Amino acid sequence: MIDLHTHSIFSDGVLVPSELVRRAVMKGYEVIAITDHADASNIDFIIPRVATACRELSKRWNIKALPGIELTHIPPETFAELTQRGRALGAMIVVAHGETLVEPVHPGTNRAAIEARVDILAHPGLITKEDAALAARNGVCLEITTRKGHSLSNGHVARIAGEAGVKLVIDTDSHEPGDLVTDDFARSVLLGAGLNSEQIAVALRNSRELADKAVALFNK
Ligand SMILES: [Zn+2]
Ligand SMILES: [Zn+2]
Repeated sequence: MIDLHTHSIFSDGVLVPSELVRRAVMKGYEVIAITDHADASNIDFIIPRVATACRELSKRWNIKALPGIELTHIPPETFAELTQRGRALGAMIVVAHGETLVEPVHPGTNRAAIEARVDILAHPGLITKEDAALAARNGVCLEITTRKGHSLSNGHVARIAGEAGVKLVIDTDSHEPGDLVTDDFARSVLLGAGLNSEQIAVALRNSRELADKAVALFNK
């Protein structure tokens, strides 16, 4: 399992990074990114601390742990600046908290995140075909999520992604130990989103390529 979107106590997750990563090891994970919720208030607080833990844990255990960030409910106009800041602070994966069906995310967030070239637009709800096409051009991956509520639009996201030729990845958006999934469960969720076995292989490869790139950058 490669999971590039999870939360620790540095936002609303319940585990410290060490326990989150330990439990991911036991679940058979190869790579986990810890991407806590951030805005202008805490981005500089979170990233260096999570990065310290990730460096230590990756050295000692059979897993690659990556520091990331999830820009969450920020004004769309600030996406470019905070994406840049996150990367400068050491975020190897920048996730954008997209326009889910279940939260009052500011309209225009999907578009702003894509224009800012985040790595992953998470749970983008009823993303438009135009935004998906721009994501394809900007190299932004759209997310299929195993998370309750956020997964309501997985089918729509998968269909639009197929039409626009944009890359899909799958993540758990874990907040608690029970949210981590096995590789098999991730495949089932992708099947449930309407992907065929070939498309599932492509999605899993997308996650791997993004992870490999981030791991290489982190090890530099
Ligand atoms: Zn959260
Ligand atoms: Zn999240």
